[in-house]
Amino acid sequence: MAIGIIFASFFHQFFNFTLIEFSLIVICAFIMDFDIFFSKYAENNNHRMLISHSVIPSIFILIIGLILSWSALIIGGIVYIIHVIIDTFDWGTNLFYFPKKSFGLKILLSKEEERNIEKYMAEYKKPQSFFDFKYYSNKIFIIVEIILFVLMMLFVILYAFKYILLIILYFLGLAFHLSTHLHLKKIESN
Ligand SMILES: [Zn+2]
Repeated sequence: MAIGIIFASFFHQFFNFTLIEFSLIVICAFIMDFDIFFSKYAENNNHRMLISHSVIPSIFILIIGLILSWSALIIGGIVYIIHVIIDTFDWGTNLFYFPKKSFGLKILLSKEEERNIEKYMAEYKKPQSFFDFKYYSNKIFIIVEIILFVLMMLFVILYAFKYILLIILYFLGLAFHLSTHLHLKKIESN
């Protein structure tokens, strides 16, 4: 979401987006993560294996944006693909979709953990704690999150101050993630 706001704010100075266009770009930055509700249809129940976490939707968004020569939609497509590419760094995604293979650097996942993921998840009362704890205990990802937050604030203040209230969406997302994290911590420590 921070990346969506950074891009929307920066390009706002050139394209003077309406609120709808600005919101469209921001939505394109995180909408795919709602595929988590469709995890049961994914390989290994991993929502990142779904088509929404591949390059395919962004290609469609870009093509439609180019046909309509609608700058907000083109930037929305770019932001969408950036999200999916960033997701290849922590746990990987099914980037090219058709090989049905998780792709990426997967910094947070060792080869051994990837091979026996079920075993490692089963060490926790809630399997998702495995992912949650690894993410929050990694300093690099936390620092990147903080840098993106600072950049988001800078860009929206400098280039799109009239849309600054949209960062409420960011804080809602943050509150959701942090409360999930604290909830899992409590469950696991009991
Ligand atoms: Zn994602």
